[in-house]
Amino acid sequence: MQALRLYGAGDIRLVEVAVPEITEGEILLKTDAAAVCGTDIRMWQNGYKGVDSEHPLTLGHEFSGTIVQVGSKVPFYRVGMKVAMQPNIGCGICDQCVSGNFHLCKDYRAFGINMDGAFAEYIKIPAQAVTRGNLMLLPEGISPEEAAVVEPLSCAFNGFSKCFVKPGEKALVVGAGPIGMCHAMLLHMAGAKVLVNDVQAKRLDYCKERFSFIDTYCGSDLAGFVKKWTQGKGLDIAIAACPVPAVQAALPALMNYGGRVNFFGGIPADREPVAIDTNLIHYKELYLTGSTRSSIVQYRRTMEFVKEGLLDVEALITDRYQLEDALQAFENAKEARGIKHVICFS
Ligand SMILES: [Zn+2]
Ligand SMILES: [Zn+2]
Repeated sequence: MQALRLYGAGDIRLVEVAVPEITEGEILLKTDAAAVCGTDIRMWQNGYKGVDSEHPLTLGHEFSGTIVQVGSKVPFYRVGMKVAMQPNIGCGICDQCVSGNFHLCKDYRAFGINMDGAFAEYIKIPAQAVTRGNLMLLPEGISPEEAAVVEPLSCAFNGFSKCFVKPGEKALVVGAGPIGMCHAMLLHMAGAKVLVNDVQAKRLDYCKERFSFIDTYCGSDLAGFVKKWTQGKGLDIAIAACPVPAVQAALPALMNYGGRVNFFGGIPADREPVAIDTNLIHYKELYLTGSTRSSIVQYRRTMEFVKEGLLDVEALITDRYQLEDALQAFENAKEARGIKHVICFS
């Protein structure tokens, strides 16, 4: 079968590999759709620990597929079922895992991160992922591509959940990338007014065309604009959906009393830690939150939102490719063309 594999920094190749063999507790999935993520691009650009020409890794952690083979001891799942995957597998033993937070497990593994992922025609699902609920049956009416994009949406939902959004609140999302748009959709679903800020005006126009509910701002006086946009009150919600220290530092000063901030995008480890004016938090009674990845229950909730038609995921999917053109998909994602780039396998 064909697989898109990482061999080191700047080195991804479409190569021929053997179809994985499964044991009695495992499932073989035929991939139906797999979406390109910013994480894939970073791994391609920077390389990833443990991955080199001797130890290549098949990328892809946002995916859905059809079960084509099940081991003799596999419960519930049967050949022909269509499923989507929450890609984080915890150890199952630690306090975080028993709390349902597999994504916070110190020893977590994930498809396409430290085990072979979904930019391949087939993918092996290990027994732990089978029995811990990482697979979710595709609800009726959801396409494989839509299902693949539920993963990043569920990560945004994790951040969203920490912000206690109420109807009519004023929310800012900084970063008009795929993750920024996931946040914008969730905030809109909850009845918030959404402002999106980015350094690229063209990018904002592009997003505004697809997500007409957003207001946009591009310029050097975000604070001034926010003041006008909120009638002098400040923001109720702010999401830093970009890995920029200066954005994190600037957000607390833009908030209304009781405002909630989510630091969604991690800051690269080689940057200086961000200094925050804690008096802003004190006097305005702010909540500063962070979030990373998503839990299985958040993933399933997000799929429900899509099923109920509360989130228009189709609007996120701007480009579709066959696996042969995966390198082009990566190039386009790197250059921030389009929003979500999805590899389709049929
Ligand atoms: Zn991702
Ligand atoms: Zn664990």
